[in-house]
Amino acid sequence: MSISIKALNKVYPNGNHALKNLNLEIPTGMFGLLGPNGAGKSTLMRILVALMEPSSGEVNVFGYDLRKQRKEIRAILGYLPQDFRFFAKYKTYEFLDYAARLSGMNNSKLRKQAVDNMLESVGLFDVRERYANKLSGGMKRRLGIAQALIHNPKVIIVDEPTTGLDPEERIRFRNLLSEVSENGVTIILSTHIVGDISSSCKHMALMNKGEVAFYGSPEEMIKRTEGKVWRIKVSADELHEVDKKYPVISTIPSGTGWEVQVVTEEVVGFDAEPYPPNLEHAYVYYMENELNLWTND
Ligand code: ADP
Repeated sequence: MSISIKALNKVYPNGNHALKNLNLEIPTGMFGLLGPNGAGKSTLMRILVALMEPSSGEVNVFGYDLRKQRKEIRAILGYLPQDFRFFAKYKTYEFLDYAARLSGMNNSKLRKQAVDNMLESVGLFDVRERYANKLSGGMKRRLGIAQALIHNPKVIIVDEPTTGLDPEERIRFRNLLSEVSENGVTIILSTHIVGDISSSCKHMALMNKGEVAFYGSPEEMIKRTEGKVWRIKVSADELHEVDKKYPVISTIPSGTGWEVQVVTEEVVGFDAEPYPPNLEHAYVYYMENELNLWTND
């Protein structure tokens, strides 16, 4: 295991119990941390990157104890927070050079080489002279990853990886992370977007209200939803009824009516046929059945 978390608790000064006796083992490779807003993902990430102290519990990162060896952990860790901002006065390559200097790369010749290589591998070499705050959203995100990677960390934590990216950049960014993870780096993706996880993570955890609701592979989570996804063909009038009764995943026009996908144990009163589940279906199933979170109003 690259990261081991035992009985972790975080109670904020106002009494919010954000992490409740959390236990989690994170292997190397790409790990997805999925959960609705307020689940405790950011709290956990902030503790892992040693920006915040837990109230109690143990965290071990590649053999280092977070309570006693924060400095050592920081040295092997890269972090891309959700609200990453660039200093307006830096050009793209200057920003990366600055990040490299901060991480202790003192030899200017080696540093320049590392910066150029990194710009090349995240596809920003051609825009290296552009001011960082003038880059597109996707480019900024890639520069964010570049600064998290510049000191060759063993673990990278990415908070809400694809927020604000268009579909093309989303795919490009995910592929970039996959490539990085193939070099033996552990990447933790913290997200409320199912699509960020399904295509790339071998292991995942579903968090809810400060606890782990599911731990395993996306395939295992999907398996638990088999036989619970249904396709119903309805008229425009019936659509409202179905929507009131079941959690609806998608609604597609079909002939004169609609084809609706719902996630539920069984469908009564409508002509339904089973449909193969995906991770999004599984997430909704968990939200409704295991966590009682689905509100259908
Ligand atoms: P997520 O990242 O999954 O959306 P968070 O870790 O941000 O979840 O929040 C978990 C819980 O802790 C929520 O109930 C949230 O309101 C609470 N919380 C987060 N930050 C603070 C804070 N600084 N002070 C008090 N409560 C907080």
